[in-house]
Amino acid sequence: MAKQKTVLFGGTFDPIHLGHTTVAIDAAKNIAADKLVFVPAKRSPLKGFLPKASDDDRFEMIALAIAGAKSLQVSDYELRKPAPSYTLETVEKFKAECGGETSIYWLIGADGVDDLVYWHRIVELLDACNLATMYRAGCEPPNFARFEALWGRRRIDKLQRNIIQTPLVDISSTEIRNKLAVGQDAADMLHPAVADYIRQHGLYQPKETADNE
Ligand code: ATP
Repeated sequence: MAKQKTVLFGGTFDPIHLGHTTVAIDAAKNIAADKLVFVPAKRSPLKGFLPKASDDDRFEMIALAIAGAKSLQVSDYELRKPAPSYTLETVEKFKAECGGETSIYWLIGADGVDDLVYWHRIVELLDACNLATMYRAGCEPPNFARFEALWGRRRIDKLQRNIIQTPLVDISSTEIRNKLAVGQDAADMLHPAVADYIRQHGLYQPKETADNE
């Protein structure tokens, strides 16, 4: 039987935007994955600030953005654990759950490549899963050659093989939060149901009009 493939996509998703869904769905297709699971983090170990929206709101927005797509899921695994969440633990959890017949892929955007050296037990993570790197607008195409002395040729070859030339979608959560914080519209960067949710719950709004503060 052919190996099953599960793709995991971690991030703060504060909020989830069309860049996230477009590239992740493209990557999952490219990998020929059976399942794509969004795994929101409680907070990023490498970001010096906490998410603006609550765990529940970020989870709910992901659920709305992927509603109706059978092969897309969202997991609250990292949200239920004390922060920060480490990717290796999440990968091990999914490996144990899916069984030996499933290959696990972990997606990152090209902007995250430089930070990988600071990831918790990165070498073990590189061996435990397929770290798949996606293109990101405004970033150089991913290239791991400079890490060869650190991680060795075999791991670099695996990382290079797992680079996916995803479409460039020039959107970030920061830009969305910044726009909403000054009362501008960001609906063109969001799934319509997520834009509605943000409006209904007054998320990311200018301070004086926010009703969730
Ligand atoms: P922020 O602006 O708050 O830093 P973000 O838009 O980068 O957020 P995250 O939730 O931090 O979103 O991203 C989760 C993962 O998705 C990261 O690996 C990031 O590189 C990747 N990613 C986010 N937006 C894009 C995009 N437009 N194209 C490709 N990858 C992306």
